[in-house]
Amino acid sequence: MNTISLTLSKSQQDLLHTLYHEYEVENNNAYIAHQYRPMDCVISLYTSGKAVFQGKSAEEYASAFQITETTSFEEHAGSDEVGTGDFFGPICVCAAKVTKKDVSFLESLGVKDSKQITDEVILRIAPQIMERVPYALLILNNAKYNEVNPTNNMNEMKAKLHNQCYINLSKKTALPKKIVIDQFCEEKTYYRYLRDMPYVVGNIYFTPRAENQFLAVACGAIISRYAFLKSMEKMSETYHFSFPKGAGSAVDEAILKFVKEYGKEELRNVAKLNFKNIQKVGL
Ligand code: MN
Repeated sequence: MNTISLTLSKSQQDLLHTLYHEYEVENNNAYIAHQYRPMDCVISLYTSGKAVFQGKSAEEYASAFQITETTSFEEHAGSDEVGTGDFFGPICVCAAKVTKKDVSFLESLGVKDSKQITDEVILRIAPQIMERVPYALLILNNAKYNEVNPTNNMNEMKAKLHNQCYINLSKKTALPKKIVIDQFCEEKTYYRYLRDMPYVVGNIYFTPRAENQFLAVACGAIISRYAFLKSMEKMSETYHFSFPKGAGSAVDEAILKFVKEYGKEELRNVAKLNFKNIQKVGL
């Protein structure tokens, strides 16, 4: 049986529904938004935007969507960040640029569904992406974070880091016309945070969940997650300590254990001190 998987843009998903809604059947898979059964094909549209065409005529049905996908590709840069929800560890931001000749290589690595990629796969594919596409990576370590936090809120720091990534990227490669940021605040607010910066990269397109729609944002997300994982690994080696991710109860326990071993002062070198976890454990 033929099986073809494609990631569809929002407008392609709408087109799929317009074409085949009369063949829609019920399904009880929570991850499948719609399933259609036209002649000789089963088309499952997942909530992630992935469409799977199965059956004798899978190729015919899928071809319409494949053509649109490759011809509509536009060279672009994109960026994303990691670590902003983690009590321990740095904030990593990365901007990358993707041109048409990189598309099939990146797709063969499985770059598209970046949120669903495991840490193990990130560690394997990120170095390959870093060899292939131009990128600029910034790591804001905890000591620096705690130093600038009193005068910069989280989004302000993100805005400055994203902007600096694009400045650094522009020194390696010409910035394309299209630049996309995985949106974390209003466009107006973003530029307000940057008003005192000597140089501001403008004309940016902001959209949520951009890592599913733009390969360069997906690359930025994967490279920054790689940098975050590597930083955490290094911290673990330095302190012979296992730092949990996120900001949940495992983190609360780890804070107390860490402070017992290394003292409260040392926390500022491994953690984001403005997180509520600090009050929660009574420090
Ligand atoms: Mn993001």
